[in-house]
Amino acid sequence: MSRKITTTPKSKRCPQCGQILPASSFRTRSNGILLQSYCRDCGNRLNRTKYRKPKSMHGTGEVFRKEDGRLWEYTRAHWRIHWSRQMLDDLRRYYSKMTNQELADMLDVTLGTLNRKAQELGLHKTRQYIADIARQHLVIARAEGAIHGNPGQIKPGEHRGKATEFKKKGC
Ligand SMILES: [Zn+2]
Repeated sequence: MSRKITTTPKSKRCPQCGQILPASSFRTRSNGILLQSYCRDCGNRLNRTKYRKPKSMHGTGEVFRKEDGRLWEYTRAHWRIHWSRQMLDDLRRYYSKMTNQELADMLDVTLGTLNRKAQELGLHKTRQYIADIARQHLVIARAEGAIHGNPGQIKPGEHRGKATEFKKKGC
């Protein structure tokens, strides 16, 4: 499911301040290929901040990493990305309206990170969203069926066993 972005986008949304900015507003990551997560302004601001680094394995702390240009936090012996207020607002606002992959891309997090946070916050896809996705899949399936001569379409009088019969639309 995870995609690798190999080309630099012309613009990018900073998950920290929520602004859509041109690529030139972002530094390049230390690998020299991808853009940093946060924009230069957010990066500069956070870079000046003094963080309390974890002193022990079971301590807590935060660090702004130059490698990817984003804030990480350390709790329960794990490094996790820091969820800013902006990111949490975005997650709550768009969780029902976007696919998880789209939202993960927008927030610049992995799908696993997104799913974990959504679960932690008790977020669910709304019925409307699930219905919309199901409808989209049906449209795609129909379009693909039309290209391939509708192999899935049952002709009048044709019987394909009990599994396909007596099924009303929408069940
Ligand atoms: Zn920013």
